[in-house]
Amino acid sequence: MTIAHRVGGDIDASCTRCKMILGHTILAMVGSKPARVRCNTCQGEHNFHAPASPAAAKVKTKAATTRASKAEITSLEALLAGKDISRARRYSVKELFGDGEVLSHPTFGIGIVREVRSDKLTVVFNAGTKTLVHGKH
Ligand SMILES: [Zn+2]
Repeated sequence: MTIAHRVGGDIDASCTRCKMILGHTILAMVGSKPARVRCNTCQGEHNFHAPASPAAAKVKTKAATTRASKAEITSLEALLAGKDISRARRYSVKELFGDGEVLSHPTFGIGIVREVRSDKLTVVFNAGTKTLVHGKH
């Protein structure tokens, strides 16, 4: 059902003074849309602002969350999420490690392999990103 707005009718709008969505009285119309309204609470007259839709607010929040998680990707804690630290293999130059593998280093502690380049590993530790060798016999 579509409510036909008319001058003198009530409408929910964002009040610029009350900073809330409140009942307003329509003072002027442009076509089928209210153009100017008066707040029933503060009696302030202002241009009509449609109440912000909750759906739009939700989309904005989701986008912000996605950005935040991408920024944290270099933190060890984020990388270890969902990994079983108890299965971390002890680091040794003689062992071979794979991409995404959790290892335990005698000096740096728990780390995660971010990149494998033949005999070199890029490993993220709490202390920072280190390059280690592996697969040496
Ligand atoms: Zn108001």
